[in-house]
Amino acid sequence: MSAVDVAERPRPEPSDLTRPFWDAAREHRLVRQVCDDCGRSRFTPQIACPACLSTASTWTPSTGRGTVYSATVVHRAPYPGFTSPYHVVMVDLEEDWTMLSNLVGTGAEPVAIGTAVEVDWLELDDELTLPVFRPVDAGAGR
Ligand SMILES: [Zn+2]
Repeated sequence: MSAVDVAERPRPEPSDLTRPFWDAAREHRLVRQVCDDCGRSRFTPQIACPACLSTASTWTPSTGRGTVYSATVVHRAPYPGFTSPYHVVMVDLEEDWTMLSNLVGTGAEPVAIGTAVEVDWLELDDELTLPVFRPVDAGAGR
């Protein structure tokens, strides 16, 4: 993984809607909203369920395990604070939801679709921790 210049990196700004996600991430827990009415998981956080329009949901822990749905390697960073190359992945989580994130702990080559990954945590500072993913096989011994 490339070095991160925390001071230069764009930061998410937690809102009332997204704060539970960021609070859980700071505690190294990956959560998503689960609809109280139809049971579907959703991400990114939304006011209403896109399947049934219910506004009732519960923040629910994920195993943090999944597989790569799509992946790319960024060779020219769009902002200061990112050192290229770095990996951007869409991960299908075990609980049938999808998340856009970064992949760490791998080389400069793109990873294969279907690669097994698990969540890891990139602590930018005391207030902000980002969920990232790493290949399951590369996680041993860390
Ligand atoms: Zn629903």
